[in-house]
Amino acid sequence: MHLKINNRFTAELPADPDETNEIRQVSKALFSYVNPTKPSEPKLIHASKEVAELIGISADEIQTEEFLNIFSGKEILPDTHPYAMCYAGHQFGNWAGQLGDGRAINLTEIEHDKQFYTLQLKGAGKTPYSRTADGLAVLRSSIREYLCAEAMHYLGVPTTRSLSLILSGDQVLRDILYNGNPAYEKGAIVCRVAPSFIRFGSFEMLAARNELKNLKQFVEYNIKYYFPEIKGEPKEQYLQFFKTVADTTREMILHWQRVGFVHGVMNTDNMSIHGITIDYGPYGWLENYDPNWTPNTTDSQNRRYRFGNQPQIAQWNLFQLANALYPLINEAEPLEKILESFIIDFNSDYKKMILGKLGIISQADNDDEFISYLESNLQLSETDMTIFYRNLNKIKKSDLAENALKAIGDAFYKPEEIKDTIKENWLLWFTDYLERLNQENTSDDERIALQNSVNPKYVLRNYMAQLAIDAADKGDYSLITELYELLKKPYNEQPEYEKWFAKRPDWARSKVGCSMLSCSS
Ligand code: AMP
Ligand code: MG
Repeated sequence: MHLKINNRFTAELPADPDETNEIRQVSKALFSYVNPTKPSEPKLIHASKEVAELIGISADEIQTEEFLNIFSGKEILPDTHPYAMCYAGHQFGNWAGQLGDGRAINLTEIEHDKQFYTLQLKGAGKTPYSRTADGLAVLRSSIREYLCAEAMHYLGVPTTRSLSLILSGDQVLRDILYNGNPAYEKGAIVCRVAPSFIRFGSFEMLAARNELKNLKQFVEYNIKYYFPEIKGEPKEQYLQFFKTVADTTREMILHWQRVGFVHGVMNTDNMSIHGITIDYGPYGWLENYDPNWTPNTTDSQNRRYRFGNQPQIAQWNLFQLANALYPLINEAEPLEKILESFIIDFNSDYKKMILGKLGIISQADNDDEFISYLESNLQLSETDMTIFYRNLNKIKKSDLAENALKAIGDAFYKPEEIKDTIKENWLLWFTDYLERLNQENTSDDERIALQNSVNPKYVLRNYMAQLAIDAADKGDYSLITELYELLKKPYNEQPEYEKWFAKRPDWARSKVGCSMLSCSS
């Protein structure tokens, strides 16, 4: 492997002078040097050829001992000095103080084809930020992160990427549901790839500690390398930086709402400044359309991070970032303006996005009503979001409402409930919908092509990941490969994989790992 090493983060930003791997508070620094813990018997389960190629690693090189050793943390790349980042954050709405990379270690930054990437191992052992935990990750959560990041990428959702999934050969103790039943599980390490792993919480930490010189240097560092198009007076630049982060965050959340992704832990330490989805923990996919759903059992009381609340939470998180930047700007108004327009712009984009899923291009005065009518219908009886939207491609402009309702019939979990007022409501909505389709200038075929490009046929349903996990626990990794291949083309028909275009099976309704997840990964 010939990776072009180019460490800008560690070369330019303040380092923790202490290089011992002891848990501690680290002030006046953005990272601590720390090496991965050597795994006892690493074994490659899967690697992404596409991500490897992106960073300059060939398919042949993936199969080498060198690849296995580097991306399991067994060996360190020459001329590199791995490090864990120091950041803070708000967790579930409360200030949590210093957090940092407790189970993630950045191997290095590299340059390939004029792009910069940070390569990071997740589950590579203790760091100064591991707090009370072990710095390790279990196979179950590593499979979930590995597959989902790639699935999101192919869905067109901005995200970190997954390079490799490797068994460590070590056992890790976890209490899956925090109910006093710990058990040993297989340990694993994922190498993930992103422009950087800088989070809102990185800025919050510097502001909370009143390290204003470092804060200024850090913001300028970010602008220089990640937002070089930003120019002007310093204050103007900081505001532009905030606006850009707000914009990309808004676009990311819009995609989440489009595909039915629920992050589950939108703490400010899990928000990337690049507007990419990061930290796949107790995430989940909406199956029956329910804006109140969250897969995260830790959040089952307040449902702070429920599907329908994600845009508001993104704004709340941006508010925390604005607070952190405030000492450099000293003016609240322009920051507030950006925060206000976040929701206004989101709502207007959301409307266009849903109309796009419906195959409608032209807007109408009653769009808000039309969309909220649809969304309330979707909740009258359990309705699968993915199947509902995808099967709209079976409808023709010339159809009657009754036929249109039949066309999406597979989306209903309890078809016997679609009668009386529920049926009437649907027929009324489909009557409006068909009228809208008839006002469009597009043919059925044109409309369907548009819809098929925004309504995925295949997403990583919660039970699918769990099936791959159950098989992997028994040493069978074939389902990981199958799902990986399937999810590379989520908008294609792929008749050979038709079985994955199906509602959640009944056994998965309330199974741990399928609809209930904790942060214990
Ligand atoms: P998360 O909920 O995954 O975003 O993690 C929140 C904080 O806890 C971060 O600082 C993580 O690095 C840390 N953390 C989570 N799991 C572990 C673990 N197994 N070992 C050490 N630190 C962890
Ligand atoms: Mg995190």
